[in-house]
Amino acid sequence: MKVAVVGGGIIGVSTAHHLARAGADVVLVTEGELTSNASGRSLSWLNSAGVRSEPYHRLRMAGIDRYRTLSARHSGVGWLRFDGGLAWQANGQAEELHRRHEHEVAHGYDSHVLASDQIAAHVPGVNPAAIPSVGAIWNAGEGWVDLPSLAQFLARDFLQRGGRLVTNAGRSEILSEAGAVVGVRTERGDLFAVEAAVLATGAAVPAMAAELGLTIPDATPISLLVTTKPVWLELTAVLNTPRASVRPTPGGALAIDSDWTMANIARATDGSYAVPPAIIEELLVEASGLLRGTPQLEVDWYGIGPKPIPVDGEPVLGQVDDVAGLYIAFTHSGATLALIAGELLAYEVVRGAAHPMLADFNVRRFG
Ligand SMILES: Cc1cc2nc3c(=O)[nH]c(=O)nc-3n(C[C@H](O)[C@H](O)[C@H](O)COP(=O)(O)OP(=O)(O)OC[C@H]3O[C@@H](n4cnc5c(N)ncnc54)[C@H](O)[C@@H]3O)c2cc1C
Repeated sequence: MKVAVVGGGIIGVSTAHHLARAGADVVLVTEGELTSNASGRSLSWLNSAGVRSEPYHRLRMAGIDRYRTLSARHSGVGWLRFDGGLAWQANGQAEELHRRHEHEVAHGYDSHVLASDQIAAHVPGVNPAAIPSVGAIWNAGEGWVDLPSLAQFLARDFLQRGGRLVTNAGRSEILSEAGAVVGVRTERGDLFAVEAAVLATGAAVPAMAAELGLTIPDATPISLLVTTKPVWLELTAVLNTPRASVRPTPGGALAIDSDWTMANIARATDGSYAVPPAIIEELLVEASGLLRGTPQLEVDWYGIGPKPIPVDGEPVLGQVDDVAGLYIAFTHSGATLALIAGELLAYEVVRGAAHPMLADFNVRRFG
């Protein structure tokens, strides 16, 4: 079976990898280099924390399960860790913290409320002064992944299995005739005749799907991720707090983001994004305040751009009813979902049948 995957973010790479494993003849085409967009500037906290629909929770848990298998088989890799996640709310939101904890416990998520004086024993490297008096939620089963490293790891296997990788191809389009996919054409003129195509172009999916006659309501914001220079750290867990989310990186530094920074991002006339240096400094100060010893943090790199999110917050994954051979992948939390989304999409493509776990996430829910 000849299949094209369009988009070299983590969802496209994982899908191509799983398709090649299933024996398909796969070409992965992408605009620039692999992970050049959202997957290259992601916090990539692996989790199913908080409140969401049961089908979505189950999908996320299956996603974490696949990472655990990968971690057990490749225990030496420094880009995938399961050292837990610690989350707290702003002071005065004790009710919200307990509501979230009760919800997590009710469906079997590993969740504990820790008082501030218990945290050092569970989570090294956290500044006790930063923790609100109501305490924090400790989710011991959570982790983080470095998506560019994961993409390289999956792409190597994809190539060894005979997959074809076409990078720097410019914008590609999926071609259909008489209600069926017939090929993919790249901006630089390559034409790949295929029976099936997976549209996995991240934030570009809603507009590209519209050209194929599909509606995907979009709530994609523009977000900022900052990485620091390497710094001596005791922290191994992911921290999610009102003013900064923080995780270690494979190189001994930190990756940091926070929703409040989004309001400060401006778009220039040439389409590029910018944020005032003071905002980056403020984010570093917030992150430093979370860490024992409040280390001086220095910016190494930052990335700004779209974070793909469907309007209802739930993934859009799976086959398209009206165009034979067309499959869509557009989702938030694509780090947590990457392995399972790729696996289940490959299942649908190769078998030509719906996977039950994707039933709630089909694009047909938008009509
Ligand atoms: C700041 C931030 C924090 C995040 N935090 C988390 C988190 O903690 N946990 C979590 O699970 N997820 C998180 N996410 C979400 C996760 O990173 C994304 O859901 C995931 O990376 C999306 O992957 P993707 O492959 O769908 O899209 P992308 O990584 O954007 O990849 C799409 C690719 O398609 C290419 N492309 C676009 N148009 C075309 C075209 N016409 N032809 C060919 N190629 C094209 C692009 O160049 C790009 O390489 C975060 C994201 C951001 C930005």
